[in-house]
Amino acid sequence: MMHHHLIANFKMNLLDSEIRSYISKLSQSSVLRKKRPDHLHIGFAPSFPYLQSCRDQLTHTLAPLDLYAQNISEASQGAHTGEVSAQQILDCGARGSIIGHSERRSIYHETPETLVKKINILKHLKMRAIYCLGEETSDLSDRDLDYLLKDQVKILKDFPPTQLIVAYEPQWAIGTGRDAAPQHIHKVSTYIRQHLDTAFGSVEAAGIPILYGGSVNARNLSSILDLDHISGALVGSASLEFDHFNTLIELFIDANL
Ligand code: PEP
Repeated sequence: MMHHHLIANFKMNLLDSEIRSYISKLSQSSVLRKKRPDHLHIGFAPSFPYLQSCRDQLTHTLAPLDLYAQNISEASQGAHTGEVSAQQILDCGARGSIIGHSERRSIYHETPETLVKKINILKHLKMRAIYCLGEETSDLSDRDLDYLLKDQVKILKDFPPTQLIVAYEPQWAIGTGRDAAPQHIHKVSTYIRQHLDTAFGSVEAAGIPILYGGSVNARNLSSILDLDHISGALVGSASLEFDHFNTLIELFIDANL
């Protein structure tokens, strides 16, 4: 059975008291207490300083939520002032990390070589990678788009497929309020699925969830979840307000995935 994920990326937003109140409301939410099949997962990625308190709060409330980091260091330990290792986020309760978010690629110049190092560290620690890929502009030809995605998927080939979640996040749709049209998401997710089949073999690749991210909100989530190759969403801005994300959870559970 394919696993589906709805994951909130808080980015560099919210303070300790706000996150505590968010998690507390979330863990008491009637939506979350509704009967939910085991293959539907809800997760969130707060900033590093709050991972541990989220973990403690979740343990206390027994809320079935997945905790992720937004990034990890490309080094596994040692003299890397200001960096945070995968082992440290694991120790703080995260089960994996977002890797290759477009903001990391564009603002912090992360290269495929950097991403391979991060992916290898997660692989050895048996942690999940939520690997983001996608195009920068909306005017790429189909051929160039396919070529780009092939290149972005290629670096995953040695990563265990059971630890992998792929997030298709067109950079032009992130934080812009300009979501990609369902036809476009369908076309791109078909390309991604084909490249995953090539990299892992179709049997292994069949279990890798492909999420969509880019201005997801309560208006567009259901039509995105209807698409054949899409198994959930990575949500930025619309996850910051508890009420809005709670509505997205409701739509996600009601989508009968
Ligand atoms: C993201 O940053 O991963 C994202 C999808 O952001 P937004 O939903 O704000 O476009």
